[in-house]
Amino acid sequence: MSQALSLLKKYYGYDSFRPLQEEIINTVMDNRDSLVLMPTGGGKSLCFQMPALMKEGVAIVVSPLIALMQDQVTGLRANGVAAGYINSSQSAQDHFNIQKACEEGKLKLLYVSPEKLLTRPFYDFMKRIKISLFAIDEAHCVSFWGHDFRPEYTKLGFLKQHFPEVPVIALTATADKITRKDIVKQLNLADARTFISSFDRPNLSLNVKPARKRVEYITEYIKLRPDEPGIVYCLSRKSTEALAEKLRKQGIKAKAYHAHIPHDIRAETQREFLRDDIQVVCATIAFGMGIDKPNVRWVIHYNLPKNIESYYQEIGRAGRDGLDSGTLLFYTSGDVIMQKQMLQDTPPEHRELQTAKLERLQQFAEAHICRRKILLNYFGEHLTEDCGNCDVCRNPRERFDGTVLAQKALSAVARSDQKLPLGLAIDVLRGSRNQAVLSKGLDRIKTYGVGRDVSGQDWIIYLQQLVNMGMLDVAYDDHHHLKLTPLSVEVLKGQTPVELYKLTDEEKSPKASRKK
Ligand code: ADP
Ligand code: ZN
Repeated sequence: MSQALSLLKKYYGYDSFRPLQEEIINTVMDNRDSLVLMPTGGGKSLCFQMPALMKEGVAIVVSPLIALMQDQVTGLRANGVAAGYINSSQSAQDHFNIQKACEEGKLKLLYVSPEKLLTRPFYDFMKRIKISLFAIDEAHCVSFWGHDFRPEYTKLGFLKQHFPEVPVIALTATADKITRKDIVKQLNLADARTFISSFDRPNLSLNVKPARKRVEYITEYIKLRPDEPGIVYCLSRKSTEALAEKLRKQGIKAKAYHAHIPHDIRAETQREFLRDDIQVVCATIAFGMGIDKPNVRWVIHYNLPKNIESYYQEIGRAGRDGLDSGTLLFYTSGDVIMQKQMLQDTPPEHRELQTAKLERLQQFAEAHICRRKILLNYFGEHLTEDCGNCDVCRNPRERFDGTVLAQKALSAVARSDQKLPLGLAIDVLRGSRNQAVLSKGLDRIKTYGVGRDVSGQDWIIYLQQLVNMGMLDVAYDDHHHLKLTPLSVEVLKGQTPVELYKLTDEEKSPKASRKK
């Protein structure tokens, strides 16, 4: 038995490595740098902990989250590994003792926060001891483009400059192609070997639905799965609370979770969820970091996340045990608008890319090609076959010639001087006699009432399709009025036919499908 394998058995009780683990360990043992991309739960920790055990000296592990750091060290110590951590929660005496243990060669792994690592005394300390390797956990934090940028991480490139002989292993569960490039560049890992384990989670069924009657749908969805724990992600704290309240009224054990709930109550909610004392957590993205519940059977996004990485990471909290699990993303262009408004606060130099990333997620939600293909493609993996486990694969969309329908809508927009937000445009098309229509004299334009035969709900989706196809635009900076585009002009002139997707029964009624 190899040394690595016997240590695996001794310290972790496992009989074999998972894919890539052994290769990564060998790379570190050869003192080469590496970048490791593995989904959460994939087994990244072993990749630096095992070399740390086998090599001379102490491994310095940079980790951004104090709570996770403490968990890992507690776990290691329980397995008989000499590990410690240094962070801002400790006294000077604690720091002194741990440093002394390192200097005496008594510690194999030292976890440290980036802030601490970057101090002068810590640098002097590192120069005094024998370092076996640097592990940089959550390495996507170095990148602006990642979803969890931490400025201190950008300074970690100094490690390679000042300790060129010590191998660096950077690890992350979430990095698209641009982020990966950025990690390599910023950490000075030009010769790093990159290891990417598959991000495919075939047991997750991927589903997207138009955001209509969300609360009713979610209630029914949960009632059909009375024993299945799940998470509903919402964008705002208020909606987590409102939704949890509504679900409780329906007899569902649900609680809200967000960053402004007092710490002890949050911890209690987390415990109750882990023990299956509550079935549902309605949460903001604050929920999930470091949560290890293998039997989460479904994840619903009440709102659109901000990009594909966030979305993928959040749905990835379902089905860690490998069993079939459902995911459902409610999609509406209104959420895209909301996310864009939130991006107004980001510095202009980042906004453009964040917007583009948001638009990728939007395209994912709107596309009628296999969703898994789009997702894996985004992370640089290519799926040749359709997955058969997403809503698009199960319900390939039928189309119809929607040219006349589109012309009616575009002409209503044109004849009202492009001053209609979506709802009002539908009122005009359906010939509604409400106050907004009458006060603006919209009942006198030629297209008033020409779309009576289509229901208001269906109009929403058709108009969204037109927006998605670039045949209509929404002016976010001008009261969300619908605007014509060069393409709309072609449609109005009859030069471009318009194909619209038919609405499926499933979209019309949540009861129609029990399938995940
Ligand atoms: P990550 O850091 O990638 O999220 P972890 O390193 O925490 O994942 O590993 C996730 C789980 O998988 C842990 O419980 C770990 O002990 C287990 N694990 C890791 N490697 C193996 C292996 N070779 N065989 C069995 N279980 C493993
Ligand atoms: Zn598919």
